[in-house]
Amino acid sequence: MNNGFAPALLAASLALSAMNSSAAALRGDVVRVHGTDYVGLADWSRVKGLKWRWLKRDESFQLTNATVRLQLLAASREARVNGLQLWLLFPLASRNGEILISRLDADYTLRPLLAPPRNGPDKKIKTVCLDPGHGGKDSGNRAASKQEKDFTLRLAFELRDQLRKAGFQVYLTRSGDTFVELSDRPAMARSRKADLFVSLHFNATDGGRDEAKGAEVYALTPAGAPSTNARGEGNGGWVTGNKFNANNLLLACEIQKSLVRQLDVEDRGVRRARFAVLRDAAMPATLIEAGFMSHPKEGKKIFDAAYRREMARAIVNGITGYKRIVER
Ligand SMILES: [Zn+2]
Repeated sequence: MNNGFAPALLAASLALSAMNSSAAALRGDVVRVHGTDYVGLADWSRVKGLKWRWLKRDESFQLTNATVRLQLLAASREARVNGLQLWLLFPLASRNGEILISRLDADYTLRPLLAPPRNGPDKKIKTVCLDPGHGGKDSGNRAASKQEKDFTLRLAFELRDQLRKAGFQVYLTRSGDTFVELSDRPAMARSRKADLFVSLHFNATDGGRDEAKGAEVYALTPAGAPSTNARGEGNGGWVTGNKFNANNLLLACEIQKSLVRQLDVEDRGVRRARFAVLRDAAMPATLIEAGFMSHPKEGKKIFDAAYRREMARAIVNGITGYKRIVER
């Protein structure tokens, strides 16, 4: 699924001017496509100071400014930001030759990356709440004799130690093999006045299909949009965590970037979901699926303490990267 922007496609790039004149009719207008609000991407890009060019006429194109390179595919949800995979909420659409992007993507997917949110001068990121997924009667995913709940906790301990060394105050939603209700986890973060909430998980596929591998990081789905892997979830309404839509996405992107670049794992992209722990978070929050326990090679690495130390290092770098951006 990650071959949307093969080098051959890049080589075939054509530096064509933005959009044709039929776009004028849409300038600044909101267009309804299948019940969703869209805006003209060329106009939006111009306002944001982005340069547009087709990589392959009518198929893929690139938007750039001094720091961000966005690659998008016509009629697709697949996007790349500075080379990293990012799933749009809605596929791009087109009307009268003009490419359209959903208003929710313009506001909550592209804007946080092009014009990142900024914390007020008194709002420093000092306290992180780590949430080791599952625990107690909830073992999470399993791969042979290994249970997800054990490895999320081990990763959380490693991450706690490294974050403390980096100067953060750290709380865990559990520090033993105990069952904690999903709703109690973000509540704990709130009572500790955490500035960030980071939930830790490992993926697995059902028996027999063990080829899936790589990391994916989740941000809460904005209200009115479908989740990346939605199975009949619907376009849910507003929840507490939606207060932090821009920060949630930025945090997820910074962590995904570190994981993919530092661990050299497959990039499964920044995705959206309405996980309970993200819905109720009263601070910017993310959920990390750090790798597949079910993959023969990746699983072996996840079960290895030295590899988890590297993984924790990558997550710390993602968190400090985010901190640097919002405190600038
Ligand atoms: Zn899990």
